[in-house]
Amino acid sequence: MPALSAPAPVSTVPDLGAASGLLCRECGARTALGPSYACSDCFGPLEVRYDFGPVTRQSIEAGPDNIWRYRELLPVPAGIADIPNLEPGWTPLVRAHNLGRELGLRSLWVKDDSANPTHSFKDRVVAVALAAAREFGFTTLACPSTGNLANAVAAAAARAGIRSVVLVPADLEQQKIVMTAVFGGTLVTVEGTYDDVNRVASELAGEHEDWAFVNVNVRPYYAEGSKTLGFEVAEQLGWRLPAQVVIPVASGAQLTKVDKAFGELGTLGLVEPTPYKLFGAQASGCAPVAAAFKAGQDVVAPVRPSTIAKSLAIGNPADGPYVLDSCRRTGGAVEDVTDDEVVEGIRLLARTEGIFGETAGGVTVAVLRKLLEAGQLDPDADTVVFNTGDGLKTIDAVSGAVGPSAHIAASASAFEAAGLA
Ligand SMILES: [Zn+2]
Repeated sequence: MPALSAPAPVSTVPDLGAASGLLCRECGARTALGPSYACSDCFGPLEVRYDFGPVTRQSIEAGPDNIWRYRELLPVPAGIADIPNLEPGWTPLVRAHNLGRELGLRSLWVKDDSANPTHSFKDRVVAVALAAAREFGFTTLACPSTGNLANAVAAAAARAGIRSVVLVPADLEQQKIVMTAVFGGTLVTVEGTYDDVNRVASELAGEHEDWAFVNVNVRPYYAEGSKTLGFEVAEQLGWRLPAQVVIPVASGAQLTKVDKAFGELGTLGLVEPTPYKLFGAQASGCAPVAAAFKAGQDVVAPVRPSTIAKSLAIGNPADGPYVLDSCRRTGGAVEDVTDDEVVEGIRLLARTEGIFGETAGGVTVAVLRKLLEAGQLDPDADTVVFNTGDGLKTIDAVSGAVGPSAHIAASASAFEAAGLA
């Protein structure tokens, strides 16, 4: 059993901005800021709590065009934007007229997070985890990963000038392995599923006190980075909340943090606290949260993943029960789609909006369509769907489904003969 919290190798009080402590999500026990992730009373997961100062739309809008414009709402030092980092975030919110028309949705946007530095939303969470890791005195940035996180950790560590240690399943897409290795850190491929890799990382986290495993021993801070997706969507809509959001579910942290972000914006008076519905999207080959939702259960039974959507292939999602809470409380749902539907979703998004999403993006678009056809989405309400990664990283998923229109000899007459004009 790994230690639940590494002893902080630091003598000063950490400067994490408005963050004032950690709160157990199960029993409500409070503890001081530190590299802890589980409650010492009940082993429940810990969450960052804040004493926010005055925050205005103007102060945010005057900030940089990256996630640090929301630094006052994150567990980071005030001067975070000046420390060398990948400057993730402020990705496009694309008004998806064509996709909306094809599906029958009146006002649809795609939050395209493939525009981040390593082409996935993981750059957001890693940036916040790195800030906390520095404050706690860690010297190495580490993670278990399904791929996108590996890319983000290796790149962020390279920019920060520190060591990275990354563990991934051996069957990961080659693109994600190369895109991690190129940054020069330590990369280890592990025989097993992501859940096996995660178990190894948890054991190592207990043994290496100077390693910050971004999604293990600094997880409460790391997860806060996903709030920036919610902040950006609201600001980019003109400081208002969308009525419906479809979000991919792997660990589930992203969906629950968008929920938290919308709540904080309302509490702080930065948006009208209008109702919104959150919808979780999973691949049928790894849909433990969707299964629990449909069965009306509060407990998420672990599954062994088998899907092309490897970035979502977490069989035992840490935030699964909280996703159920968020979706049920807001009147949303959790739905899943087959791998064939995922490929169709990727192609639909690409063909209608010119956005090549990774398999997770295919999952959300396919779930969007399925929910709409089932009457679970209001076709007239403002709707946002997330594309969290770049299709170039999961090219094998569609390489068998698309290809050249023709193969011809090098002459115009051959083109004409192919009947393409
Ligand atoms: Zn507790």
